Amino acid sequence: MTEDVAVGDVWRMRRRHPCGGWEWRVYRVGADIGIACLECGRRVMLERRRFEQRAGARVAAGS
Ligand SMILES: [Zn+2]
Repeated sequence: MTEDVAVGDVWRMRRRHPCGGWEWRVYRVGADIGIACLECGRRVMLERRRFEQRAGARVAAGS
């Protein structure tokens, strides 16, 4: 479940980023979820609903 998404979490997405990366770190949680690609550093803001659609599994929990 993604109800408990937290800043610092690392999530593996269902689809690979064009740079080749799969994992993203959460840097902001609010109405929108801010994530940064671990491979290329690209930052993206997604509506929570969209994040939930794209997220696969959490691979590391934030502090
Ligand atoms: Zn990337």
